[in-house]
Amino acid sequence: MPEKATVRERALQAILDAAVDGVVLIDHRGVIQAFNRSAERLFGYTATEVIGRNVGILMCDADRAHHDRHIARYLATGLPHIIGRGREVMAQRKGGTGFPIFLSVGVLPQRDRPQFLGFIRDLTPEREALAKQQELRERLIPVSRLALVGEIASGIAHEVNQPLAAITNYACQRLLGTSAPDIGEVRSALQEIGSQAARAAEIIRRLRRLARGPDMQREAVSVNAMVSELAELARSEGARYEVHYELDLGADLPPLNIDGGQVQQALLNLLWNAVHALMGSDATPRQVRVRTRLIPERHIEIDVCDNGPGIPAALAARLFEPFFTTKEHGTGLGLAMSRTIAEAHGGTLTYRANAPSGACFVMRLPAD
Ligand code: ADP
Repeated sequence: MPEKATVRERALQAILDAAVDGVVLIDHRGVIQAFNRSAERLFGYTATEVIGRNVGILMCDADRAHHDRHIARYLATGLPHIIGRGREVMAQRKGGTGFPIFLSVGVLPQRDRPQFLGFIRDLTPEREALAKQQELRERLIPVSRLALVGEIASGIAHEVNQPLAAITNYACQRLLGTSAPDIGEVRSALQEIGSQAARAAEIIRRLRRLARGPDMQREAVSVNAMVSELAELARSEGARYEVHYELDLGADLPPLNIDGGQVQQALLNLLWNAVHALMGSDATPRQVRVRTRLIPERHIEIDVCDNGPGIPAALAARLFEPFFTTKEHGTGLGLAMSRTIAEAHGGTLTYRANAPSGACFVMRLPAD
């Protein structure tokens, strides 16, 4: 806006400043005429710094090179490039950093010298949210539990087979294979058998340690923030199964001193199980409710309940057994792992039937 702005120009500036989007007005040569407050905030320039300069300073190199050509073509032919459609482009802040925007352009017709109004919406928060969701997804979704079990099983088979083969060898060939083994030979064969059995036990012990996962990285975690983050992810994944999520978050919960990644993984197993159970049910609407609350003795309870078919009483006792599954491609490790995680935090994970139908898994964790 020129120094001595007319009443009309001041009114225009006030309107532009009220807009939430960045607004940039340029003339037919691409020279900036007006720059509103939001644009100042987005680009880091003040209006006085940019008015009178070519709009190219707000663009990344690739777009800058074409921009004057687009305007010239529009003036000559009336053929718009971006006008009336809008598109995503990269803008450039003062200092040269790029950021994604959605740009829509309108024309202010003025005989042969039209002006162009650009409306700019910063896409950075959307992009960051998407990237965060993606990162969470990669971190949490057990890509293929089946593959993991296959790996563990063949690992166990391979590792334990060797000492077992050695034991068989000593027992069958050296002890049973000779008609009258002397006591020295018996002793040495038994010693070998003992040390091979110890080796097998050591392998199993190591595998169990491995299954417990890496050492815990405890930190203060807000349980409601953690559950909300998970629900966001579950919503984006569960939308296609038409599952409705309800969050019932308790007020004033103390922070938990936990390994947030591990506990999220455990809760995610419960959420996927609920979604899976609902897929095969005709409940309407299909519902998963996650509730957090403080219970006596400074424990926090997180329950994940669904209105699916639930679990027959005869099977309920076996739910947490490793390898117990009713799914064709299930591994039966999800609940066992989730319970291990809860217990490693000094907590519990239990099951109860939901009313009138469905399943509830209840995790309790000590707050201190
Ligand atoms: P997997 O999902 O690989 O079968 P899990 O240990 O996670 O392994 O679950 C074990 C079994 O518990 C499932 O196969 C299923 O029969 C039952 N189950 C778990 N959660 C639910 C639920 N929300 N509703 C009904 N059944 C469930």
